[in-house]
Amino acid sequence: MDLKLQQYINGKWVGANSGRMRTIINPYNQEIIATVPEGDESDAKAAIAAAREAFDHGEWAFTPATERGAIVRKIAELIERDKEELAHLESLDTGKTVEESRGDMDDIAGVFRYFAELADKDGGELIDAPVSNSISKVVHEPVGVCGQITPWNYPLLQASWKLAPALATGNTLIIKPSEITPLTHIKVFELIEEAGVPAGVANLVLGAGDTVGAELSNNTDVDLISFTGGIATGKKIMQAASVNVKNLALELGGKNPNVIFADADFDIAVDQALNGVFFHAGQICSAGTRLIVEESIHDKFVEALVERVKKFKLGSGFDEETQMGPLISAEHLAKVEKYVEAGIQEGATVAVGGKRPEDPELQQGFFYLPTIFTDCSTDMSIVQDEAFGPIITVEKFQAEEEAIKLANDSIYGLAGGVWTKDIAKAERCAAKMRMGTVWINDFNLYFPHAPWGGFKQSGIGRELGKAGLEEYTETKHIFQNLKPEPINWF
Ligand code: NAD
Repeated sequence: MDLKLQQYINGKWVGANSGRMRTIINPYNQEIIATVPEGDESDAKAAIAAAREAFDHGEWAFTPATERGAIVRKIAELIERDKEELAHLESLDTGKTVEESRGDMDDIAGVFRYFAELADKDGGELIDAPVSNSISKVVHEPVGVCGQITPWNYPLLQASWKLAPALATGNTLIIKPSEITPLTHIKVFELIEEAGVPAGVANLVLGAGDTVGAELSNNTDVDLISFTGGIATGKKIMQAASVNVKNLALELGGKNPNVIFADADFDIAVDQALNGVFFHAGQICSAGTRLIVEESIHDKFVEALVERVKKFKLGSGFDEETQMGPLISAEHLAKVEKYVEAGIQEGATVAVGGKRPEDPELQQGFFYLPTIFTDCSTDMSIVQDEAFGPIITVEKFQAEEEAIKLANDSIYGLAGGVWTKDIAKAERCAAKMRMGTVWINDFNLYFPHAPWGGFKQSGIGRELGKAGLEEYTETKHIFQNLKPEPINWF
C-alpha cells in the first residue's frame, strides 16, 4: 500500500509517541490490510498544542477567505484526481462495494467544492443601529481550535462534512477517525498537505475513543467539538465538553420511520424501502429501518420486499455483482445478532433472514442476511433501538394520524420518509414528523446544499448547508461611536 500510514501533526508525518501500533482488517475476509500508529492522549495533546499555536499566532484565521476557499477547492480537485485510490481504500476498510465508495468520493469532492464556494460569500452585515452617528456591524469569525471525531460507517464522507467548513472559515483542527477505519483519513491528509494547508492548521491523530477522543473532548485548549457517532458516546462527549463550555455539534444515531400510504407508487416505494435500509448493510444513520405501512397494502408490500430480499447478492465489495457487503466487525455482528434474538423473544416474526448466511464463501467475513420483521409494535426493542444493521421492522396503520404517531414514537429524530401521491397529505405528514430531514417520495437523498442533523436525541447542530458553515463561526458585533460625548452620569 502506497500510503504514509502515520499521523499528521504540525505538518509532519509521525508515529505514535508510545510506539504502539494497531492492525486494520478487511471485514470481508479478516485479512490484515494495514498497520497504523495507535496514538494516545500524548499524541492528541501534541496535535492540540500545534493547532492552538497555529490559531493563536499563525496567519490562517486572517488569511483572506478567497485564498482559504481556493485551498479547499484544491483539496476537492485532488480528491477527484485520486478518486479510484480513495474508493479502493474505503472499500477495503469498510467492506462496502467499490461502486458505493466511488459515489462517496464524488459526494466528498462536492462537499469540499460547496464549502470552498461559500468561503468568501459572508462579508458580515451592517446593522441600522438605533443610535445616531454610529456604525454597527456583525461579523463571523472562526471559533478556534476544533476537535473532530468521526465514525466507521462513512469514514471520509463524515470527515468531509467537518474538515471542509472548518478550513473554509479559518479554524484549526484535530481530527480523529474511528480506530478501525483510518485509511482514507490518512490519504486525504496527504492531499491536504499537497493543497498547501499550513503546518499546524489541520492535524490527524489516530487511536481509540477513550484515549484520543476523550482528550479532544476534555482538553481546555479545544474550543469546539464536532462528533458523529453513537448516542452513548455523544452523551459522554457532551459532559466532557462542559469543562470549558466548548461549542458542540453532535450528529448521533437514528431509528428512522418510512411511512408508506396505500396510494403510493407501489413498485417505487418497495424499491426505495429496500434501498433505504439495505444499502451499506444498514449501517447508515438515516437508514429507514422502521417501515410503517398502511394496513390495506401491508401483506402485499411485505411479500414484495421478501421476494426481492431473497435475491440479494452478498459478497466482496470488489465483485461487481455484489449488492451488499459485510458488517464492519465481529463485535458489531454480535450486536446485530443480539437485536434479532431480542426481536424474536418479544414476539416479532422473521419474514426473511434472521441469521448469518450459510454460503461457504462468506464465512470469513462479518456477513448477516438482510432481515425483515413483521408483527412489530412500538414497545419492542427491535423497533426502538438502533441496531445499525440490515434489519427492517414493519408496523401497520389505518389512519394518517396513527402513522404520524408511530413515526414520532422514538427518542431519535434524524430523518424519515413519507410515500403518497396525495401532496397535501404528504405535506401534512412532513410538517408533523419531528425529524431533521423528511423525504417525500424519496429516501436517503442528501446533498451539501441542504442542512443535515437531528431533532431530539439524534443530535445538536447541523452539518452541510449554510448552517454547517455557521457551526464553525462565532458571531461578533462591533459597534463604533462616530461622535463620542460624555455621559455625565457620575
Ligand atoms: P461510536 O460512538 O462508537 O464511535 C464514533 C467515534 O467516537 C469513533 O471515532 C470512536 O473512537 C469515538 N469515541 C468512542 N468513545 C469515545 C469517547 N469516550 N470520547 C470521545 N470519542 C469516543 O460510533 P460508531 O459505532 O463508530 O458509529 C456508528 C454510530 O454513528 C451510529 O449510531 C450512527 O447512527 C452514527 N452516525 C450518525 C451520523 C449522523 O449524521 N447523524 C452519521 C454517521 C453515523
